[in-house]
Amino acid sequence: MTRRAESVVLERAGTPRQSVYEMCRTQFRHAADVMRLDSAIARILESTTNEIIVHFPVQMDDGRIEVLTGYRVQHNNVLGPFKGGLRFHPSVELDEVRALATWMTWKSAIVDIPFGGAKGGIQLEPSFYSRRELERITRRFTFALNGNIGPEYDIPAPDVNTSPQVMAWILDTFLTMMPPLERNRSLHVVTGKPIEAGGCVGRDKATGQGVVYCIERWMKERSSSLLGKTFTVQGFGNVGSWTARLLQELGATLVAVEDVAGAIAADGIDANALLSHVRASGSVVGYEQAVPITHEEFLATEANIFVPAALEAQITEEAAPLLSVDLVAEGANGPTTPEGDRLLQDHGIDVIPDILCNAGGVVVSYFEWLQNKRSESWELEEVDRKLRCKLLAGYDRVEEARREYDVDPRTAAHIVALKRLEAVYEQRGIFP
Ligand code: NAD
Repeated sequence: MTRRAESVVLERAGTPRQSVYEMCRTQFRHAADVMRLDSAIARILESTTNEIIVHFPVQMDDGRIEVLTGYRVQHNNVLGPFKGGLRFHPSVELDEVRALATWMTWKSAIVDIPFGGAKGGIQLEPSFYSRRELERITRRFTFALNGNIGPEYDIPAPDVNTSPQVMAWILDTFLTMMPPLERNRSLHVVTGKPIEAGGCVGRDKATGQGVVYCIERWMKERSSSLLGKTFTVQGFGNVGSWTARLLQELGATLVAVEDVAGAIAADGIDANALLSHVRASGSVVGYEQAVPITHEEFLATEANIFVPAALEAQITEEAAPLLSVDLVAEGANGPTTPEGDRLLQDHGIDVIPDILCNAGGVVVSYFEWLQNKRSESWELEEVDRKLRCKLLAGYDRVEEARREYDVDPRTAAHIVALKRLEAVYEQRGIFP
């Protein structure tokens, strides 16, 4: 069996794969109906603009050649350049990437940044490859994408299983393909870079920080605070681990965590100590100050807040009734299915939807892009202050739409995005 075939088999056995794109379109259509989106504009926004699939050969350490498949879907760029992450995962396929690209368009519109939506990735299980192989795969993918990405056209960033290091390889490869005179003005072809290679302070924690700003605001609206609250986190990678550490700093207690290998629980889990364990062992499993629990026990853990920060379609009609929390703050993209959503509403569980809650990453990516264009580097305090301001303004817009249309928060968030996009299409018209 090739490594690619093995990686597909590795997908969690027994997890039914919903069509994530269908889920994304259901959310869109519902909001479009409620706000009476112009039907021509709805047809434009319902489709993607460009879908790029590349098959490219890469030499492995043992001399073998593997042919890998990579994707880049560009959903819409009416508000600005296409923008969105790249993920390395066995489940990456066209429909998933279409959905993730579409959510990026909505996200940038809600927080009012001049970007459109895109997403991409390579279908692979990164743990099967050496670091040098991953570097060659990344560089060859960048070469294959060629002019389909660019600093003023389409700007990738990190996502599941990709890191600042991966962004640095993309940057280096892209610049090598540019004429020498243009190289130094193209640093903003990717965001989420290491600081030394043109990254922005605070980008690593930005998505988690944004999740926490949203939760704080949600608490404040209920005259409450994070002090003494409990929370659970699914996924302990970039988004999950930062969210957990930042919530802990504000006085909340982590009581259960799940990653791809399993779940653990305790009355209080120190998120910093757990991260050291994960860095050393690769998983939350085996952390000695907690006990192992099943997936169902993880979902049923009583807490104030649940932060899904792993993959899509986790809060399904089977999972939603198990949850025993007041709030779901969606760090992941698309973690809740439409059926799951309905059940959360029936059970009185509030949701801060993904396209608002995890927008901190793209906001600070925008700041990184701006700094690269202006040859500036901002201090962390400035980045955090501006992030908070952008995100909470988006939060307020969503709350306003929620009240105006008397809808659930996800529909309200879509309405905010669709209204903005509709206005631009109406002003600009359709060529020719
Ligand atoms: P990551 O690769 O750093 O971490 C992913 C985590 O999810 C890992 O702990 C992994 O073990 C866990 N996981 C994977 N499959 C799982 C499963 N079936 N059950 C439980 N846990 C599982 O990825 P990340 O960058 O933290 O992204 C997580 C989510 O947040 C994704 O939905 C991503 O699209 C979204 N997101 C990320 C960013 C960002 O800036 N990185 C921004 C916005 C949204």
